[in-house]
Amino acid sequence: MHNNRKIDTLIIHCSATEFGNRSLFKRWHHARGWDDVGYHYIILNSYPHKNKWTGKTPDFTSDGKIEKGRPEELIGAHTRLHNDNSIGICLVGDRTFTSKQFLSLKKLVKRLQKKYKIKTIKGHYEYDTAQEQGKTCPNIDMDWLRGLL
Ligand SMILES: [Zn+2]
Repeated sequence: MHNNRKIDTLIIHCSATEFGNRSLFKRWHHARGWDDVGYHYIILNSYPHKNKWTGKTPDFTSDGKIEKGRPEELIGAHTRLHNDNSIGICLVGDRTFTSKQFLSLKKLVKRLQKKYKIKTIKGHYEYDTAQEQGKTCPNIDMDWLRGLL
């Protein structure tokens, strides 16, 4: 059944951490009892691992890199009550993101818009279920971001 899910929405998130990559988030999500990372895509900054961040040794080769998380045909676990028809994209970062991350996001969004009939691009905070939880994710003004995409 999962293979036939209808995708018409992209939901943008941030990791709310200064560092991270797919394997780290997968471990965290595992700890919450999920099979796999909840996002379908993760867009890295220069700090894929915690030691890069704490050691102040950025890795510019990872900046803007797009990692695949959960396969698109599988329902994600990123936005309460809105996972069925959406793809979840996570930008690594808390309040600041790099221009390479935004360029990669733009590329990814274009690709997904070609593949699916995307009607909506939203930020996590624009959903009631996020507001109820006090979430401001992705900490980016979505009108500004939609203008950029
Ligand atoms: Zn989120």
